[in-house]
Formats: sequence, structure tokens, C-alpha cells
Amino acid sequence: MRYITIHASATFPSMDIGVDEIRDWHLARGFNDVGYHEVIRRDGTLELGRPAHIQGAHVLGFNPGNYGICMVGGLKEGTKTPEDNFTAAQYQTLRKRMVELHAKWPEAEIVGHNFFPGHESRGCPCFDWRQWRDDFLASVNDPPGPWYDEARLGRRT
Ligand SMILES: [Zn+2]
Repeated sequence: MRYITIHASATFPSMDIGVDEIRDWHLARGFNDVGYHEVIRRDGTLELGRPAHIQGAHVLGFNPGNYGICMVGGLKEGTKTPEDNFTAAQYQTLRKRMVELHAKWPEAEIVGHNFFPGHESRGCPCFDWRQWRDDFLASVNDPPGPWYDEARLGRRT
């Protein structure tokens, strides 16, 4: 993989949706499956979308070698305004999952959707992904931090 890209579903915090609903939207847009590889629900549950060996459809023009993860939420309730309203459980899952993905594809750059040329004006992923990425990398580059093995063993809640 060349990139691991984080997205937001751009839905309201009150909307408890997951991969099934997003798949329906993407099918309606003419995709043949949900565009993301993984979806993180409001309660932190990780749901699988496309398998990793199937190219995603989540960053127009930059889909090859690009693994897509979608956090559910990201719009201020009842508006179109981007807002970091993701739950602690979602951030916990994102971090835990990124430990595994970063170990699997250490060469892949961890970015947010609006990193890509032509996509800068998008609010997606609706949080400060650069800060999150920097904090994440700082933590994994500090072996043998005890949290790393715990996360791999699934013991970290
Ligand atoms: Zn996006």
C-alpha cells in the first residue's frame, strides 16, 4: 500500500450507521460495493468493507494502492459544517487498527482525505488528522512501549 487514508462519513452524530448503509449509498452512486475497506461505527465497532486486495473507491484519482478507512460522523448536527465529533471509542479503534495496518504496510503514508491534490477543499476527514498522525507515529516509534504489544494482543480497550 502507498497510502492509508482516513475519511469521515460526513453524517450527523445522531446517525448510527455502518458499512451496510454506506454500501447502499455507494451502490446508488454506481459503485459495485462500498468504496472503503473499513468503517468505524459511532460505538467504535470496526466493520470490514472491501477486502484489502480489491482497489477502493474513496479518493477519486488516487485509488490504486490506497487503503480507505471511514469514521462515521463528522458533521455538526443538522448542518453541513465539518466538526470533530468522533467518539473516544472511535479514536481508540482507529489507533488500535492503525497499529496493525502500520505494521503490515510500514511504507504506507497515513493521511486524511483532504491531503490529496484536488481534494484539499473537502472537510473530510473532519478532524486534525496531521496532529493525530504525528501523535500516532511518535507513539509507535517509541518501542518497546507496553501499549504496542497490548494493542496487538487485543488487550487494549
Ligand atoms: Zn473522504
